Amino acid sequence: MRVPLVSGEWVRYANLDNAASAPALRQVADAVAELLPYYGSVHRGAGFASLVSTEAYTRAREVVRGFVGARDDDLVLFTRNTTDALNLLASALPPGTTVLTFTGEHHANLLPWRRGDVRHLAMPATPTDALDALETELRALGGRGALVSVTGASNVTGEVWPVQEIARIAHRHGARVALDAAQLAAHRPIDIAACDVDYVAFSGHKVYAPYGAGVLAGRADWLDAARPHLAGGGAVRNVTAADVEWTTGPARHEGGTPAALGAFAVAAAAGALRGTGWERIRAHELDLLERLLTGLDAIGGVRTYELWERGHDRVGVVSFNVDGLDPALLAAALGAEHGIGVRDGAFCAHPLMDHFAARDGGSRHAVRASIGVGTCADDIDRLLDAVERIARDGP
Ligand code: PLP
Repeated sequence: MRVPLVSGEWVRYANLDNAASAPALRQVADAVAELLPYYGSVHRGAGFASLVSTEAYTRAREVVRGFVGARDDDLVLFTRNTTDALNLLASALPPGTTVLTFTGEHHANLLPWRRGDVRHLAMPATPTDALDALETELRALGGRGALVSVTGASNVTGEVWPVQEIARIAHRHGARVALDAAQLAAHRPIDIAACDVDYVAFSGHKVYAPYGAGVLAGRADWLDAARPHLAGGGAVRNVTAADVEWTTGPARHEGGTPAALGAFAVAAAAGALRGTGWERIRAHELDLLERLLTGLDAIGGVRTYELWERGHDRVGVVSFNVDGLDPALLAAALGAEHGIGVRDGAFCAHPLMDHFAARDGGSRHAVRASIGVGTCADDIDRLLDAVERIARDGP
């Protein structure tokens, strides 16, 4: 896509904002376009469109089941997005469950838990510190019911969290683990069984599907016992004037007409990512990440944000600032003068940005560049060139 600059020139848009929402893959657009003429309300009768949509929706759930490596008795629910998925899980916690998160989480993995007993673990200076803090906190709980909810990859630093180790510790103490895979699902396998987590949540719009659907997958017992997330048609077995018998399984929490096209898009994206192959995706993105980090390091006055040592595993997300420059102005100049899309602000992770501001001095706000499967070396080089020029000459 070409975009106009303030100079009047038109340039190819360099999208380095994949962590916010990733553009639909061609396979996804094609799959959705194929279904578009036939969509109808699912599970609502024998009309042709309803049958086609019901079949597509059911198939989509099975594809997503494979994508998240769900165990046979896990539920796979379609939600609106990750935020919705984690709120749903929060509403399903058995009374008395303590939730443990780290303060550096995205707000979607901080705020839903605040309705109950939540403990925030301080930002760990190393991955080992994270594991030690968790061990200490879980030991102090002495076997009381707990859920550890952790991000797979930070939306600010891209750093990948030691999820398997976290799960091992949590399970040893009888706690469950929820994985916020919003920033991981497009870059690495989020296999429930392999990660050994109990729940996984992610958003379609971050895995190259358009808006409309997210996913919560995991253990059925809490979900089947919880009050329906959306009370209404489809969530029930029987209703009388005085009473209601709720159904179990995914339908319990998917009341009303579901976003079948959104679910179908998520499944198409999941199929396309798996078809491309995780090793190929990883190699491509790490190559570009290295190019980006090396380039930023070479520009005077640029500071990148990391929680841990530079060599730690990360997806292609880099937040940075240029000394003396307002990140909002920098981001605006990158867009308007260079045709480069980035994000700026505190990234819905205010406690993490406050932690960085306190640890390193400097701003609570930054600019974020994020890499996806469609990113190329030229996108990175254009960003580096633009940042260097703006750092030298001003926005
Ligand atoms: N978790 C992380 C790590 C995220 O980066 C985001 C979105 O940026 C979310 C959760 C929330 O995703 P959504 O806005 O799709 O609900």
